[in-house]
Amino acid sequence: MSATPDRPLVPAWLAVPDDANALADAVWPESAERDAHGELAVGGVAASVLRERFGTPLYVLDEDGVRTRAREVKAAFDAATARHGIRARVYYASKAFLSTEVVRWVTAEGLAVDVATGGELAVALAAGADPARLGLHGNNKSVAELERAVEIGIGSIVVDSMIEIERLAAVAERLGRTGEDAQSVLIRVNTGVHAETHDFLATAHEDQKFGFSLSAAVGAAERIRELPSLALVGLHCHIGSQIFGTSGFAESASRLVDLYADLLAGGDLPVLNLGGGFGIAYTSVDTPTPIHDLAEGIVDAVARECEVRGVPLPNLAFEPGRAIVGRAGVTLYEVGTVKPVTVSEDLERVYVSVDGGMSDNARPALYGAQYSARIASRASDAAPVLARVVGRHCESGDIVVDAEYLPGDITPGDLLAVPATGAYCFSLANNYNYVPRPPVVAVSGGSARVIVRGETVEDLLARDLGIPAPGSASTSASASVSTHGEESA
Ligand SMILES: *Cc1c(COP(=O)(O)O)cnc(C)c1O
Repeated sequence: MSATPDRPLVPAWLAVPDDANALADAVWPESAERDAHGELAVGGVAASVLRERFGTPLYVLDEDGVRTRAREVKAAFDAATARHGIRARVYYASKAFLSTEVVRWVTAEGLAVDVATGGELAVALAAGADPARLGLHGNNKSVAELERAVEIGIGSIVVDSMIEIERLAAVAERLGRTGEDAQSVLIRVNTGVHAETHDFLATAHEDQKFGFSLSAAVGAAERIRELPSLALVGLHCHIGSQIFGTSGFAESASRLVDLYADLLAGGDLPVLNLGGGFGIAYTSVDTPTPIHDLAEGIVDAVARECEVRGVPLPNLAFEPGRAIVGRAGVTLYEVGTVKPVTVSEDLERVYVSVDGGMSDNARPALYGAQYSARIASRASDAAPVLARVVGRHCESGDIVVDAEYLPGDITPGDLLAVPATGAYCFSLANNYNYVPRPPVVAVSGGSARVIVRGETVEDLLARDLGIPAPGSASTSASASVSTHGEESA
């Protein structure tokens, strides 16, 4: 991260705040506010109440925030496609945050749901999602996963390789899905456009694992069209994540429409799925494109490309994940230790350690992702100091917030809130250092309820078969013998 010469420890984008208690617009959930005592509340529930009832660290999810975004995104794509007389289907990309409750919220708001594994599929089904409104992705789906998906009548499967086309065709045939009843598939196309945050690269061949190149997709389409158990309904591409602006999508769409136009010679292709990747604000300097502008820009670009080539405009599909849930999440931590660290002669930053870290938010370690933070339990007039919020794990890269100005009187026992953690935090959570994963609490209208319970140390120990059962005198060696029945018999 580049820094300015007069502030070598501070990333160039980070300014000293006028008010180190302020909750930046668009970064925090709409319902976040400071009450009369200066304490943070989300969904009408005060941070101290959340700590008392549920402990820390805690994932807090603003239900109205998720629902509002789902409605807005759907309305934006509905409006943008209606102008051209076509329809949009918006899939929630469930890998961003998946629980049965969230599936119920977004499907109630009219979204379809995207899954990428048998586990994600199981959660969506457990939530009561309509199988016909589910899509399945992934570059290496197992035969068992394909079987399950076909069996439950999944709406569409995005095929990723020639091997998978053959596997899926065999599965669908075995399950009697031929002719009218053939399994709908889309071809995942690698358009060579890859979005790096706020920018995109366009290459002839992209060196990554997903999908078919533009030229290989032609052969894939021919093969699918020969197979009686598969019905080719469209093309799919996804150019990356946390994208601002429409230029990357427009470039990718242009390439995809070239292919679409070529393939129309061999039959209908009613759907183009342009994936997700719409960016959100993680810090006050992020300025994502408003979703209505983004939707119009992308849909207009596809319409133009089709018009230029004189081909009919197909229906469109989109797969936002982060844009639906990212802003609705806030993680609450308790401050443990506070340690000023002299980095050189006259440069200091304060290391603020919290009771979570890379186990509940892997994104800073994984992607160098930037976040912001505020003291949640109180407002403070103390002058801001440059801080780095770190976790409790045995890695110096265990950073939660790389650089932030926090009130200089921050102290053990303060609650610290990190906003914009609704996407890819809970879903990437892990048990590094045998730290139990935190619960998820949904807040709305002044009430809070657990939607995913937190793990206990007992949960973690339960998988270790070397531990004697309570009350049994057996050693770990005899426990292992009794696990293998034939030896103890
Ligand atoms: C991850 C992913 C998405 C969602 O990405 P966001 O950045 O969360 O919008 C959509 N489609 C595919 C195929 C993905 O892999």
